[in-house]
Amino acid sequence: MKISILTLFPELITPYFEASVPGRGAKQGLYELEAVQIRDYTLDKHNRVDDYIFGGGPGMLMQPQPLADCIDDVRKRHAPGTKVVYLSPGGKVFNNRIAREYAQLPGLILLCGHYEGIDQRIIDHWVDEELSIGDFVLTGGELAAMAVADAVIRFIPGVIGNLGVHEEESFENGLLEYPQYTRPADFRGYVVPEVLQNGHHAKIQAWRQEMAEEKTRHVRPDLLEKGGTED
Ligand code: SAM
Repeated sequence: MKISILTLFPELITPYFEASVPGRGAKQGLYELEAVQIRDYTLDKHNRVDDYIFGGGPGMLMQPQPLADCIDDVRKRHAPGTKVVYLSPGGKVFNNRIAREYAQLPGLILLCGHYEGIDQRIIDHWVDEELSIGDFVLTGGELAAMAVADAVIRFIPGVIGNLGVHEEESFENGLLEYPQYTRPADFRGYVVPEVLQNGHHAKIQAWRQEMAEEKTRHVRPDLLEKGGTED
């Protein structure tokens, strides 16, 4: 899979994907990620990419020309079936189901806005989907694009070593993950639950299920109501 992140700040993107699990996956050739500088595509002689907003209002908007030319050029390097996604607080909210779906695509082009956002004509005619990472406003789309790319990369076969790891995680089966512990069994008087220490598989499974349900009921009752993160 090929992921392109279109941004005014490519230097923020690449170091993250060179480290840890995403870094290993890229080195193994399981996916390819590039950060593309949108400003390289502006035809403005002063290198500008933003302008005032028609009808008035505070702030500036990213102009359509550099965005359209950047998307068109990057698309040429992608296979058919690649999706163009604009990260935006106005999009539908991202979740694990979407991450799993995107991991099946040949490519993903993630467009980061800045300032007050981007010209609507780009959203209408160049973008396939608008995605939000939550009900808050960031200064730019970079953190959102990195969050989406990271979650998608985890679903690319081979990136996470242990088979079955996804099935046990939060949001699978509509539940948050149960509590987990590592050694020592007694840390400053706080002791790991007895059931996890006695190695009885069926009892451990039952305890984990009960804990996952209890936590979900308490923290995210909405997940139980809609049966997971399915829309
Ligand atoms: N004026 C816009 C609005 O009210 O919807 C907010 C623009 S925001 C300051 C600048 C950029 O940050 C957006 O173009 C988008 O790419 C990104 N962004 C901000 N919040 C986001 C979120 N919750 N999810 C995804 N992207 C976000």
